[in-house]
Order: sequence, then C-alpha cells, then structure tokens
Amino acid sequence: MQLVSWLRDSKRMLIFTGAGVSTGSGIPDFRGPNGVWKRRQPVYYQDFMKSEAARVEHWDYKLEGWAAFRDAKPNATHLAIVRLEHAGGLNAVVTQNIDGLHLRAGTSAARLVELHGTNSFVECQTCRERSEPGPHFEFFAKTRQPPRCACGGLLKPATISFGQNLREEDLARATEAARQADLVVALGSTLSVYPAAEVPLLAARRGMPYVVINQGATEHDGLAEVSLRLEGDVGEIFPGAVDAALQ
Ligand SMILES: [Zn+2]
Repeated sequence: MQLVSWLRDSKRMLIFTGAGVSTGSGIPDFRGPNGVWKRRQPVYYQDFMKSEAARVEHWDYKLEGWAAFRDAKPNATHLAIVRLEHAGGLNAVVTQNIDGLHLRAGTSAARLVELHGTNSFVECQTCRERSEPGPHFEFFAKTRQPPRCACGGLLKPATISFGQNLREEDLARATEAARQADLVVALGSTLSVYPAAEVPLLAARRGMPYVVINQGATEHDGLAEVSLRLEGDVGEIFPGAVDAALQ
C-alpha cells in the first residue's frame, strides 16, 4: 500500500488533523449537522472583551462542553501519531482540534501546533498566563460570574474565538513545518477552514506527497496536489497503516 511505504520512508512528516480524528473519542464535531452552532450563537472575541453579558454567555457555552472535554481519552489515531514520533519520522502535528488530545496522548509540545487553541487551559487576556480550567469552571458554575486573573485581566478558555486571529507564533511554526515536510497527511479534516487548511497545501506545493484521509468530501478533493485520497473513517484506516509501516 502506497501510504504504508510513504509512512515508512518519511523522515520529516507533517500530520494535519481535524474533527474526524476526535469523533472516536466522543468529541462532537461542532461544525457538523448536530453541532452546537445550530443551537447557540457564537460569542465574538470583540464582544467577549467589552461585554460582561457576552462573557457570561461564552463561559456558559464552554461549561456545557467542559465535562466531555475533561473526560475524553485519546483514541487509536492519536496513539498511532505518537508511535510515528517515537519511531523518528514525525516532524510536526498541526491540529485544528481544541480538545488537547494529541498532547494527552503523548505528542510532545515542541512538535505540536494547536492552531485553534486548546480547551486544556484558561488564558488571561492581559498577562497571557495559562492555568488549569477546573477551578475556573467550578467558580463560574457556582457564581455565574466570569472568572478574572489575579492581575485583573479577563480569563478565557485558551481557544481561538470567532473574530480572533490565530496566534502568529503558531502560524509561523505550522508554516515552517510545512516548509520542512517530506510527506504531509491530512486526517479527518474537511480542509474547509482557512488559513489552517493552507498548511498541508504549502507542503504539497513543494512537490511532497500529500495524503488526504477523511470520511466525506473535502475541499481539497480533486486538487492536483493531492497524491492519494482515502475515503473512510480515519480510525479504521490510519492506525493499521502506521502499524504496517513500523513493523
Ligand atoms: Zn493576568
């Protein structure tokens, strides 16, 4: 199988992941047909920063999903990516997912770029200090008041909100990983959210093999840059291919 030999031969692989990698861990696809945005209005970053009512709404929405994120376990795909790293061929994991499951699975922070942030931390919007979410959610659940930092700044789960730019440092690291990659594999992403979906294309346009594995159509289907397109559940395709490559 072509995928297996590419995985075996790569020295500087870039893995790009989306929601389809996390559905096997029980994380709902919030853009999907039953996604949360069919029920709730997203709070834009600018409103969060200027309105206490918007902050209450945002914390209430995050509280709704908190237990699921806290209890989610990495699945076979996350663990296969860790095995690739230990085998020495993986250069970077760039993810659109905010569930923190790559880190929890054991992907090293130095190789991981969480482009859309993470629910695993709460971040002060003034001093940027990060802290564990648990106590902040307990405080909000009890008081219905959005928590604040010791510095007085506004605390927000460390995900990128609507209307908020991606972190420049994260984009720079993802771009650099794409420049160095000798193979790029996109897993469980519809590749429809930009600028994130530009990352695998950067590597592919340098002539590197580009593999897309997803259940359902992606925006990159039919592009000349895609070397191999596998249709189906990532969890049923990718871990087995990794096992075969690392034998
Ligand atoms: Zn602060």
